[in-house]
Amino acid sequence: MIYLLAYNNRLLIDNAQCLFHGLESVENHVGYQSPLETLVVEPSVKLMRLSRMPAELEQVDLRSALELLSEDEYRWVSRAQQLLSWRLQHQHCGRCGEKMEQADNEMALVCSSDHCRNRVYPRISPCIIVLVEYEDRAILAHNSRFTPNRFSTLAGFVEAGETVERAVAREIREEVGVEVKGLRYFKSQAWPFPDSLMLAFHVEYAGGELKPDGVEITEARWFTVDDLDSVELPPPFSISRQLIDDWIERQRAATKSSDKERRSTLE
Ligand SMILES: [Zn+2]
Repeated sequence: MIYLLAYNNRLLIDNAQCLFHGLESVENHVGYQSPLETLVVEPSVKLMRLSRMPAELEQVDLRSALELLSEDEYRWVSRAQQLLSWRLQHQHCGRCGEKMEQADNEMALVCSSDHCRNRVYPRISPCIIVLVEYEDRAILAHNSRFTPNRFSTLAGFVEAGETVERAVAREIREEVGVEVKGLRYFKSQAWPFPDSLMLAFHVEYAGGELKPDGVEITEARWFTVDDLDSVELPPPFSISRQLIDDWIERQRAATKSSDKERRSTLE
């Protein structure tokens, strides 16, 4: 069994910077203190919420820690962090105010009042994340929350009652003023800050002048692959970077095949 330990809303690391604890390590750090609660992350992985901060452990900076994890570890940690935030936000029933308890048969919280029995599930907030492409260029933008010179793909939450397709068109229009077409699904990534599910797409530019909204997006530009050297891109494990890397690879392959064609015409 692997344990993740948490105090308040943060996961805990030991002095070797490790997030995963065996039973022996749990006994050492937690001792005879009984945990507030244990939540099942996966059959072999449990999240233990503690009522007191163990002296030898530290609260992790999750954004930097995620970068170092394998695919399995990323899945455990992002699920554990999402369950943790959700649990802390639902200590009492939103309908009647009584205490919430874990359901026996599924990952849900149930109101402890027999008259109410309100049931809530972990919240997942779908987000779209998009790379807009046109010929050999793509749009990257600087968000007002980014560090200086960081550029990334465009992103936003899907709103209530909205389809993913409409969310893509609306977000891009709102953030940079352009219209898009030819939506192509790329892949998804859970992003536990606090409960996003990022759905990534490539789209084609269909018209309009590139103009950042000036609030969320302070700068937006068309980039060729060569232009990317002048800016800082998101970290490699992030889905935004994977979208950009996929585009770079396709651009390089296209350049190679057009070189080949040119050579064969000359021969
Ligand atoms: Zn209730």
